[in-house]
Amino acid sequence: MTIEVVNLPNEEITCSTCQANCCRLEVLLISDTGVPEEFIAEDQWGSMTMARLDDGWCAALDRSTMLCSIYEKRPLICREFEMGGYECLEERD
Ligand code: SF4
Ligand code: SF4
Repeated sequence: MTIEVVNLPNEEITCSTCQANCCRLEVLLISDTGVPEEFIAEDQWGSMTMARLDDGWCAALDRSTMLCSIYEKRPLICREFEMGGYECLEERD
């Protein structure tokens, strides 16, 4: 008998136990959600991305709370990033 392991989102995974790992990824800006200009950079291929500071995290991350400082205007990719999803788990590892 083969038991299929279904990869369901892990309920114990929450952003409060994570140092905003996903906010170190490159975030492409694929639609205009109102991200303030000072947080926008251009990558080597000419695409607009969220700027990252020398510590590797997104420039819009509030370092004191490790929360997004532009939550209402955050990019689409950030809105769609699933907590507990495959990419989240990979970043947490
Ligand atoms: S979505 Fe995942 S990787 Fe991002 S802060 Fe939350 S738990 Fe961490
Ligand atoms: S815009 Fe906000 S949610 Fe998106 S990577 Fe930056 S700090 Fe994280």
